[in-house]
Amino acid sequence: MSGPVEVMESRESVVGTMTVRRALPRARRRTVGAWCFVDHFGPLAVGPDGGIDIGPHPHTGLSTVTYLLDGQVLHRDSLGSEQVIRPGQLNLMTAGRGLSHAEEPTGHYAGTMHGVQLWVAQPEATRHGDPAFEHHEELPRVELAGADVTVLVGELVGARSPARQDTSLMGAGIDLRPGGAELALDPSYEHLVVVLDGILVLDDGTPLRPGSSGYLGVGRDELSLTAPDGARVLLLGGVPFEEQVVMWWNFVGRSRDELAEAGRQWTAGDERFGRVDSPLPRVPLPA
Ligand code: MN
Repeated sequence: MSGPVEVMESRESVVGTMTVRRALPRARRRTVGAWCFVDHFGPLAVGPDGGIDIGPHPHTGLSTVTYLLDGQVLHRDSLGSEQVIRPGQLNLMTAGRGLSHAEEPTGHYAGTMHGVQLWVAQPEATRHGDPAFEHHEELPRVELAGADVTVLVGELVGARSPARQDTSLMGAGIDLRPGGAELALDPSYEHLVVVLDGILVLDDGTPLRPGSSGYLGVGRDELSLTAPDGARVLLLGGVPFEEQVVMWWNFVGRSRDELAEAGRQWTAGDERFGRVDSPLPRVPLPA
């Protein structure tokens, strides 16, 4: 990466039984575009009942974006969706005013688990709207001189994802061949490059490994990615999100009171969050 890059270290966090690298939110930077939560998990070896194993829990005001490099996860939600996701596919669940979901082992997949789960804050215009779920089995893939690009959300290198977007943003998985690649960027977007596998080398020789990411401010129209031995990265971008976001537990809103009310409703079994047909126990509100 050339030009000014702000290196950000992820923090380790435990989700269910897995330790993840959380690239967002960080103290200095809460959002990149409307991306407000970036968890990178694996690679780790899992058995048929291992890996992501999270019982029914609620969300409000955000979309979850799930993308796998390896493995399988079974998604179930209160809309009645039941969907296995595999590498290269996309699950995009939009909470709006509220829903609940579970993420479970498939019961048969054994092997490597490696992927990301991301949240996108919804804008005021849609955050009180209906919940929804999308699964995209095929995503646009573009082969460049030094990389294969899979567009998850929004647009990159002339390819546009069919996935829903409520704000101006993009997300892409980039597999760099040894050497690297150059990409054109939308200069109205800020960007975050999250290293998922291998080593990315900055202009001054600084290596970025999984657990590190590079933030790029608005005003750039190109990105040069250098990876002498190849690497896999996630590129996220968007127009800086100006609405004041408050995040607590699995809720995104605009005030503490609003989120506390959502928490009380989850505990009370309020119909706002529906019901998930899952064998796993419901996740209680944290103390
Ligand atoms: Mn969730």
